[in-house]
Amino acid sequence: MSADDTLVIHEIYASIQGESTFAGLPCTFVRTTGCNLRCVWCDTPQAFYGGTRMRRDEVLARALETGTDLVELTGGEPLLQPATIPLLRNLCDAGRTVLLETSGEADVSSVDPRVHKIMDLKAPGSGESARNRWSNLHHLTSRDEVKVVLASRADYEWARSILEEKSVTSVTPKVLFSTVFGRLETKDVVAWVLEDKLPVRVQLQMHKFIWSPDARGV
Ligand code: SF4
Repeated sequence: MSADDTLVIHEIYASIQGESTFAGLPCTFVRTTGCNLRCVWCDTPQAFYGGTRMRRDEVLARALETGTDLVELTGGEPLLQPATIPLLRNLCDAGRTVLLETSGEADVSSVDPRVHKIMDLKAPGSGESARNRWSNLHHLTSRDEVKVVLASRADYEWARSILEEKSVTSVTPKVLFSTVFGRLETKDVVAWVLEDKLPVRVQLQMHKFIWSPDARGV
């Protein structure tokens, strides 16, 4: 077994998709271990370390056995592990609708074009804004989604100016604004979006309302 064909996995479980335009749908989550960023509001720090090394074919079998049409690779940052690229391809070949949550720092250029990439743009309040890999925007299409997590009005203003400066909505119409749970009121973001007539989707992280803000593996 070559180390290149294994992945360190934090957890694999079925739940419903809590975010994105797929919110509410049954989904199998494959959460990889490890991230090279440290967003100050990260809600999955438990995935920074630990995990179990598994062969790619084992991860594939576990992801398929739950039977959901939707499968999401998330983390941590899945693209830090080279076997993520062939795993995404395997899941597409198996007929699944495949989502990839990625930080916006990792290079997405090798991701199978059938995958729906949900890519963050890190606002200043994350502490990781300097890590945005802007060239990634050239590798997105209208099937992909761009997500900005907002911790403050300043983050909102940053996002508004970036959308214009980088013509993000001409890359994809699926631009998602979320708030850091407990830090910024979603109703305030709704008011700002209406005032500025921004063509974005304000979203809630459904899983945090269904279970609890710090629930794991749901
Ligand atoms: S990129 Fe994602 S997993 Fe990594 S620190 Fe930021 S929020 Fe957490």
